[in-house]
Amino acid sequence: MAAELKRADRLAAVGELSARMAHEIRNPLAAISGSVQLVALRPWVDEKDERLFSIILRETDRLDGLLRDFLFYAKPNQPTKVALNLHRVIGDLCALLATDPRLEGVGVDNRLPDDLVVQFDKDQCTQVFWNLLVNAAEAITGDGRICVDGALIKANGGLNEVRISIRDNGSGMSQEDVKRVFEPFFTTKKGGTGLGLATVYRIVETNGGRMSINSALGKGTTITLYLPA
Ligand code: ADP
Ligand code: MG
Repeated sequence: MAAELKRADRLAAVGELSARMAHEIRNPLAAISGSVQLVALRPWVDEKDERLFSIILRETDRLDGLLRDFLFYAKPNQPTKVALNLHRVIGDLCALLATDPRLEGVGVDNRLPDDLVVQFDKDQCTQVFWNLLVNAAEAITGDGRICVDGALIKANGGLNEVRISIRDNGSGMSQEDVKRVFEPFFTTKKGGTGLGLATVYRIVETNGGRMSINSALGKGTTITLYLPA
């Protein structure tokens, strides 16, 4: 027990330290990006310079996104649990995703009963389902479907849970990849951070839930979440 606690303390300290570090890097990065944008407006800037400036801006943006994702992973906020209607959360996200180029040609079936309620942090809930829907959309090339299903599971004695599944008919994964998806920085995407599922896993855990993944190469992927009702 004491050894377990020490390990948890150590992990928290490492999280704290790396979160500080990420934070410290983001500030000067914003200054660099802001200054470059101003210099790029000067009259003597030619086409060649413009190209170089746009590379600087693209890469500072990318670095900033990576640091932001890393901060979410390394130091998730203490959850403030509230009662959330999941049908509505997914509905709002679908409306948002409909404008995203990644979702072109992808249909989302929101089959959640409209009275399904979970106890979860509101922002973290949005982040969890956003990451999962984007992953599903990115796994689909051409036309495809994402199906979100859910049900209340009455427990004998203990607490009730809500089971939610997010199923896509995208690329699927090999069993070797399935074993690694929750590892931070594991990615098979060009430009991916590999922090999406690691963050989802952490958030779900700190909100008192659990999750599992099932995938078959060429067939698709199903993510199942069990969240406190
Ligand atoms: P990223 O999206 O930045 O790569 P994630 O942590 O979100 O990082 O996902 C890690 C990896 O898991 C992805 O690169 C991909 O290989 C795999 N993956 C996640 N979700 C799916 C999915 N729905 N279908 C197929 N592969 C997936
Ligand atoms: Mg992702």
